[in-house]
Amino acid sequence: MLLSVFLTMFLPCVAISAVFVVYVCLLWYATNDQAVNIGLPVRQVSEIGLSASELDNLPKITGKEVMAERRECAVCLDDIEGDQPARVVPGCNHAFHLLCADTWLSKHSFCPVCRAKLHPV
Ligand SMILES: [Zn+2]
Ligand SMILES: [Zn+2]
Repeated sequence: MLLSVFLTMFLPCVAISAVFVVYVCLLWYATNDQAVNIGLPVRQVSEIGLSASELDNLPKITGKEVMAERRECAVCLDDIEGDQPARVVPGCNHAFHLLCADTWLSKHSFCPVCRAKLHPV
C-alpha cells in the first residue's frame, strides 16, 4: 500500500524531471546553434581581407632581399626593383610590391600566386 502511494507520487516527478532535462538540452542546443550562426558572418568578413594592423604585422623587405626567381610581382606583373619596398606572404614566401600586396591583401586574405591562406598573427 505504502509502496503504491510512493510510486504514484514519485513516477510523475521522474517523468517531469526527464521532460525538463530534455527541454534544457534542447534549449542549450538551440543557443549553441544560434551562437554559431551569429559567429559566421563575422568570420566571413575577416576572410575578405586583412586590416591595416594585420598588414603591418606582415614581413616587409626590399627588392634586394627577394629571391631572383620571385622578383616578378604577380599583382602588377612588374619586376620588384632592388630599392623598392616589398611584402612577403608568410608561409609561401611569394613577394609583391608593398603597395600591390597591401592593395590585394586588404581585399583578399590569400596569396594571389598560390592562393595560400593568410593567417595573420
Ligand atoms: Zn606590383
Ligand atoms: Zn604564395
